[in-house]
Amino acid sequence: MTYVIAEPCIGEKNGACVDVCPAACIHTTPDAPQNYIDPAVCIECEQCVLVCPVDAVFLDKELPEEWRRFEGVNAAFFQANKPVSSLQAEEAARMADAVSDYASRAGLEVAVVVLDRDGRVLASCVSDSQHQDAAARKAYTALMYGVATHELKPTSQPLWRQSSDIDGQRVLLTPGGYPIVEGVDTLGAVGVAGAGPQQDMLCCQAAVGARLAAQAH
Ligand code: SF4
Ligand code: SF4
Repeated sequence: MTYVIAEPCIGEKNGACVDVCPAACIHTTPDAPQNYIDPAVCIECEQCVLVCPVDAVFLDKELPEEWRRFEGVNAAFFQANKPVSSLQAEEAARMADAVSDYASRAGLEVAVVVLDRDGRVLASCVSDSQHQDAAARKAYTALMYGVATHELKPTSQPLWRQSSDIDGQRVLLTPGGYPIVEGVDTLGAVGVAGAGPQQDMLCCQAAVGARLAAQAH
């Protein structure tokens, strides 16, 4: 069960409930028309009900029929505003190290670049500096399209982003770029260049594998 804020809050939104909520689970944004209760956090203490001047708060199973949809409205607010995650620097460093290890064992000289979800460089490792730009562009391409670069064609469309968000100057449609995907989110990407298509891809797989192995522990 959870408490739900319904239509009477719209236009009132005075925040009295926010001040008394011991679970800090009532939130809004400046543009939103009302406050919302996070159903995953509410401890059903009823404090918000007691202070609401317009009787906007109800236990979910006691919502008046005309406001039943507000159960979904409250939950949807937290879905839409949940923090977006990104690859972390520590994970990126681990991935870059894994590529270096693999490349040195295989006698390869490569450049590796790991990007966060916004396309910023989180980690890089370069034994072949002339390919650093290509590695960065492969990572960017995988990040923006949401798929590994060896699967892309010039006609491919990005999976989760708008085509207009992509900087064509940074795109490189050659093998050796892998996105880091969780659900429908691309958290970052790794790009490797310098050793040829197959070896660049194996280097990327070493990076992805190192991240997954660390998560499993
Ligand atoms: S019932 Fe209690 S925990 Fe739930 S939103 Fe209201 S004040 Fe917060
Ligand atoms: S106290 Fe009532 S009107 Fe005020 S923000 Fe909370 S639910 Fe909305």
